[in-house]
Amino acid sequence: MQQSYLIKPVLDIEYPTIDYGKGVYLYDKNNKDYIDGSSGAVTASVGHGVTEVINAMTEQANKVSFVYRSQFTSEAAEGLAKKLSEITPGDLNWSFFVNSGSEATETAMKVAIQHWQEQGIYSKTKVLSRWMSYHGITLGALSMSGHVARRERFVALLDDLPSASAPYCYRCPFGQTHPRCQLLCAKELERAIKRIGKDSIAAFIAEPIIGAAAGAVVPPEGYYAEIKAICERNNILFIADEVMTGMGRTGKMLAIEHWGVQPDIVALGKGMSGGYTPIAAALVSDKVMEPILQGSKMIMSGHTFSANPQSAAASLAVLNYIEKHHLVDRSEKIGNYLRKELIEVANRTSIIGDVRGKGLMLGIEFVENKNTKQSFAPQVKIANRVIKKAMENGLLVYPANAGDEGITGDAILVAPPLVITKEEIDELIFRFKKSIEEVEKDLL
Ligand code: PLP
Repeated sequence: MQQSYLIKPVLDIEYPTIDYGKGVYLYDKNNKDYIDGSSGAVTASVGHGVTEVINAMTEQANKVSFVYRSQFTSEAAEGLAKKLSEITPGDLNWSFFVNSGSEATETAMKVAIQHWQEQGIYSKTKVLSRWMSYHGITLGALSMSGHVARRERFVALLDDLPSASAPYCYRCPFGQTHPRCQLLCAKELERAIKRIGKDSIAAFIAEPIIGAAAGAVVPPEGYYAEIKAICERNNILFIADEVMTGMGRTGKMLAIEHWGVQPDIVALGKGMSGGYTPIAAALVSDKVMEPILQGSKMIMSGHTFSANPQSAAASLAVLNYIEKHHLVDRSEKIGNYLRKELIEVANRTSIIGDVRGKGLMLGIEFVENKNTKQSFAPQVKIANRVIKKAMENGLLVYPANAGDEGITGDAILVAPPLVITKEEIDELIFRFKKSIEEVEKDLL
């Protein structure tokens, strides 16, 4: 192994060196091809090497790549903010740009707190969340994250913000089935609010479809309407963390639109720039901005690279591309085909218990016993085995597990770029099926 000075996620394994990417394919230095079945970390929304995006980035770089947001605005940043207000529902008319999803959720948290402070209410400082969730790796975002494996090292530094169970019907935390459950998972939020005290809570944050912590877990019908009503009754803002689900990934521009519920603040990242540059955003509604506009007239947050024109130009080009090629509708339609094919694979194997999700954000949960839904023992590392085998077979899939043994199952996400064709899905399925069969054989 060549000496490397790069801190990689796992230090004692060798990662292939990437050479280039085109469409849904990536090619390493040995010219091996990989179908990007997870869009990296559910990011490469428009695929790799898109000429329109590269041209927009080059054009912007030839003008100016960086200006500081406290000294200048730019056409690119203004254009991106305008576009986001036009393509998202309701009055989400204000954009605050940052560089990662973690910064977007932390900005959402800070804006929510400031919204109340500007009205003279200083006690509302907590942002409640759910277990089996992921809102980011920085300490504020991790405090909101119900992801045990990512929290445990830093627990002493974190606030205990996860306060409600996830709407995880496959393994209902209350042992119920929908609709007989009467949405106990949503009602648990109101109980938590009563216990903690609504006067200390600024907002509630949730991923409309749970991603990294569980693998595309879709809530039961009525869940978000109930959540929104609970938030409104208790004077608490509702933040939708659409970092993974946003910008067409699930067959709607924002995943929360599947349930017709209007969030007060939205966090965006990942697919917003398709990975061409690091950019993310907190989208803030008129309602939330109003007291700030009447009051201090500034948001107490920001980063050196916030709203830089280079990233804004890339993101705007990606959003234009999504619109021009109708990728939101496409995500729904082609996602239905991918889902059907994954269910076919699941029906022919003993180790897949559930296929779920919406659009091109699909989750697969592994089980040792389909009838009892018994999970594999943690030491089997079933999802890791599948991910490794798929990589050998030239397919990328993404891990999804909250690390809370015995509660959340072990899952993966299949979330290819929104541009994937039917033929490419057939090849993805071929490689996936082969990988599953090989893992199954290894387990015997
Ligand atoms: N929120 C959600 C829903 C995510 O899935 C992620 C990343 O996976 C984040 C926030 C954090 O984003 P980033 O890794 O860009 O900081």
